[in-house]
Amino acid sequence: MNFNFSEEQELLRKTVRQFTDKEIMPYIGEWDATQHFETNILKRLAELGLMGVCIPEQYGGSGMDYNSLAIVCEELERGDTAFRTAVSVHTGLNSMTLMQWGTEQQKQKYLTPQAKGEKVGAFGLTEPGAGSDVAAMNSTAKLEGDYYILNGQKTWISLCDVADHFIVFAYTDKTKKHHGISAFIVERTMEGFSSKAIKGKLGIRAGNTGEIFFDQIKVPKENLLGQEGEGFKIAMSALDNGRFTVAAGACGQIMACLEASIQYCHERKTFGKEIGKHQLVQQMIAKMEAGLQMSRLLVYRAGELKNQGKRNTRETSLAKWQACDFANQAADDAVQIHGAYGYSNEYPVERYLRNSKAPVIYEGTREIHTVMQAEYALGYREDKPLNNMLPSWPFEEKTVSSH
Ligand SMILES: Cc1cc2nc3c(=O)[nH]c(=O)nc-3n(C[C@H](O)[C@H](O)[C@H](O)COP(=O)(O)OP(=O)(O)OC[C@H]3O[C@@H](n4cnc5c(N)ncnc54)[C@H](O)[C@@H]3O)c2cc1C
Repeated sequence: MNFNFSEEQELLRKTVRQFTDKEIMPYIGEWDATQHFETNILKRLAELGLMGVCIPEQYGGSGMDYNSLAIVCEELERGDTAFRTAVSVHTGLNSMTLMQWGTEQQKQKYLTPQAKGEKVGAFGLTEPGAGSDVAAMNSTAKLEGDYYILNGQKTWISLCDVADHFIVFAYTDKTKKHHGISAFIVERTMEGFSSKAIKGKLGIRAGNTGEIFFDQIKVPKENLLGQEGEGFKIAMSALDNGRFTVAAGACGQIMACLEASIQYCHERKTFGKEIGKHQLVQQMIAKMEAGLQMSRLLVYRAGELKNQGKRNTRETSLAKWQACDFANQAADDAVQIHGAYGYSNEYPVERYLRNSKAPVIYEGTREIHTVMQAEYALGYREDKPLNNMLPSWPFEEKTVSSH
């Protein structure tokens, strides 16, 4: 495993850091307070080639490796979780899933404009009665002639009001349970599609999250992703990529907690010395530093496996679970270090604490990852190569077929 970043990756980190410092940090307090999702940020990310970092150039992306996507997520979440979440669903859950499972025609039609940032993608799996228990979903898709008739509702969908394309999941045959779920590409402009934002969230208040509704949507047959009945498998493979971006983002959240806390440790004095000189405060700083370094190792190991085209469900789950828990703890400690001042929005740490909770819930809750890791260790769960893997990196130029 290579622990060195290339010059290109170092430049990428610098670019995203400068972007975050200049175009997110000065405004994020206001966007968070007013629950405003700033869509211009996505346009700017597109201009910088950051809406398709690890998508091959032949599909409009920047052609960089999977750990470059981790770098982007780390640096964006140092600014705010909302924009990293946007990249997670757009690139991790949607574009990478199209890259892995899409037909050439689907890649040309949907992946290419998404990778260029001309269109935004999102991912609809969760329903009011189906979160961790995906198979409890109620959405249905019935084939009638050349169309699937899609009915149902999804909730807690990031970018619900913003995205142009959604990968969504519905039963084509409920009697087959998991094996009866299929995946579809749905466009916002299709008749029968509507969305509604959820307001009053604890965190990621500068993000757009909400419900999407399918009322007799006529989805063309060619928008079936994979084969009928492969939806559950596709959803789980999408989560391998989404979780990777969430874990990387958590590293950025810890960095932000460390930066704010270190600065405050030097500013604030009690009992005649900087609070950074008190050992119990040092313990919190040390835990943040350890959490950051351990999380990064787990994230970059998962990224390296992706680069090699290997299945990484186990490693990605571990990275996501641990990094998000470390970030949640780091944010709690950052507020503690700031004392009462950490309890107001005069300092950013209260936002970090609020933001750090959702990643412990979405893309597999802490409990689901705990159970997964125990099952792997006990030999109850084992990963086999999928029939469709992410392409290994460096990407090969493939001849584009017209079919
Ligand atoms: C801000 C935000 C953005 C989101 N974005 C998206 C998105 O873009 N697309 C999307 O599809 N979804 C999205 N989600 C939804 C998210 O993925 C779900 O909330 C998550 O999967 C958990 O489902 P649930 O909320 O229904 O909780 P439940 O599954 O009902 O779980 C409730 C509690 O029970 C525990 N539990 C459940 N089953 C078990 C078990 N077997 N063993 C032990 N404990 C268990 C859970 O860990 C949790 O503590 C988002 C959520 C949030 C908060």
